[in-house]
Amino acid sequence: MVKFKSIVALLGFTRLALSIPADLDTTLVGCLSTYNVPTISPSDADYAPTVSPYNLRTPFFPVDVAVPTTAAHVSSALKCAQKFQAKVAARSGGHSYAAFGLGGVNGSLMIDMKKFRELSVDPNTYVATVGAGLRLGDIASGIYNISARALPHGVCPGVGISGHALHGGFGFTSRMWGTTLDNVIEMEVVLASGDIVTVSKDTNPDLFWALRGAGSSFGIVTTFKFKTYPAPNSGVNWAWRWTLDNNAADTVEKKVKIFQAMQDYAVNAPSNIAFRMFTLPAEGHYEVSGVYWGSLADFNTTIAPLIASFPQDGTSDVREYGFIDLLVVLGGAGQLPQPENYNQHNTFFAKSIVSPTKLTSEALTSFFTFHSENADKPPLSWWVLADLYGGQYSQISAQNPADSSYYVRDSFFTFQLYSDLGGATGTYPPSGFDLMNELSRSLTDAQPETKFQAYPNYVDPTLSPEEAHELYYGTNYPRLKELKAVYDPTLLLWNPQAIGTS
Ligand SMILES: Cc1cc2nc3c(=O)[nH]c(=O)nc-3n(C[C@H](O)[C@H](O)[C@H](O)COP(=O)(O)OP(=O)(O)OC[C@H]3O[C@@H](n4cnc5c(N)ncnc54)[C@H](O)[C@@H]3O)c2cc1C
Repeated sequence: MVKFKSIVALLGFTRLALSIPADLDTTLVGCLSTYNVPTISPSDADYAPTVSPYNLRTPFFPVDVAVPTTAAHVSSALKCAQKFQAKVAARSGGHSYAAFGLGGVNGSLMIDMKKFRELSVDPNTYVATVGAGLRLGDIASGIYNISARALPHGVCPGVGISGHALHGGFGFTSRMWGTTLDNVIEMEVVLASGDIVTVSKDTNPDLFWALRGAGSSFGIVTTFKFKTYPAPNSGVNWAWRWTLDNNAADTVEKKVKIFQAMQDYAVNAPSNIAFRMFTLPAEGHYEVSGVYWGSLADFNTTIAPLIASFPQDGTSDVREYGFIDLLVVLGGAGQLPQPENYNQHNTFFAKSIVSPTKLTSEALTSFFTFHSENADKPPLSWWVLADLYGGQYSQISAQNPADSSYYVRDSFFTFQLYSDLGGATGTYPPSGFDLMNELSRSLTDAQPETKFQAYPNYVDPTLSPEEAHELYYGTNYPRLKELKAVYDPTLLLWNPQAIGTS
């Protein structure tokens, strides 16, 4: 993690390059002020830390930042933006891979949702009410402390609930309980018109469909209501690891065999087990790891067939924890609650591949051969994660695909191809884009019979709008575009891949 030191210098450059007319700049701010919307402007000391993105590779500079504390403030901010033709983006946790919460471009009006921090659990229905500015760690610990219950979501405690829940939301309980998106019951949403509406299965159902999958294009959510589940008493954090020499003749074959064993087991794996392949080729590191929601004794029985099919020269690490302790371990941040003014960063570029089927031997061989041949690429550090989403007992694929605009529901494995500077500060090298794209093609081109998609929560800004819409939304895109024309005809809610940009 690094600190963003050069923002002031960059800001000076960008303001010149933007050529935002001074009167638009001033008048928008004036409008926000008229409606008493709290703001942070470029001349304010808070501006630089506020607009510093999680991914330092994608710095953008909003014309102004609204920091609303009420839905009425959000409504006024949208009306001002409409009046002065500024593009708008909401930011919740700021973890967009391409800083789409800053607009993904210079000169947007950013709506910083960090003041929306409500959290409660209804004692009768166990429905959790969650403010749009909270982060996953705040929510996991808050819901558990109030009710000993839980919501499915990713493990990184700093990720914001809004981007996460509106575009998917996968974590170690998702095969058991669905994605975060699948557990949204109701939202309070401010539309591009400034109207404040309730959205649920029965109220504004077309918006309920669109927001759950393509939320950033359809409104600004202020509050979510989520279904929750009794937290399991315990979970087993498990891993089998191998160190494999990239130059050894049998390394690729061994990786392929382990992956095949994993995906064969995955087809019938119970829903209370989560697992993934993780590899860091530069260190020869290869692992199959995950979480089992249950006791150690039950885990040992459940996992036995998979372990029996592994090469026996790996090392294992298997530990049982109480539910909340395991979330802390998985989160890797030492604690779950996060500060309102969050200040973690990385400099990275990532891609995703959603595979609806098993990977063939040809595809895996091509993929892992690429790993061995390109393991060392300083200053880049790169790794691959392949998460099991599917299998016949998965609650992700069990949902009715027509219920939401989230399109990649029939994922068997979702791959994340990730490259960064290994924790160092500096500039991401242009060669990294080629490396990640070639890595991606080494898998997909070797399995041409499969239609691969991409995960909308791992936005890849190198995709054109057409490519992004096809990969994230597939056949749902035409309906999304029609609804965008109804609810936001001027594309006020905008990022480079927003619905309506193709
Ligand atoms: C370190 C890290 C770990 C991650 N781990 C996981 C994981 O385990 N599982 C997983 O599924 N994903 C994971 N992700 C991806 C993450 O789910 C997405 O990046 C997610 O969109 C981030 O949400 P955010 O609110 O933090 O981001 P933001 O950048 O604030 O927002 C992301 C998008 O949502 C929009 N948005 C934000 N708030 C609102 C709102 N209130 N109303 C409408 N639109 C809004 C923004 O405009 C933007 O387009 C991870 C990302 C990072 C960086």
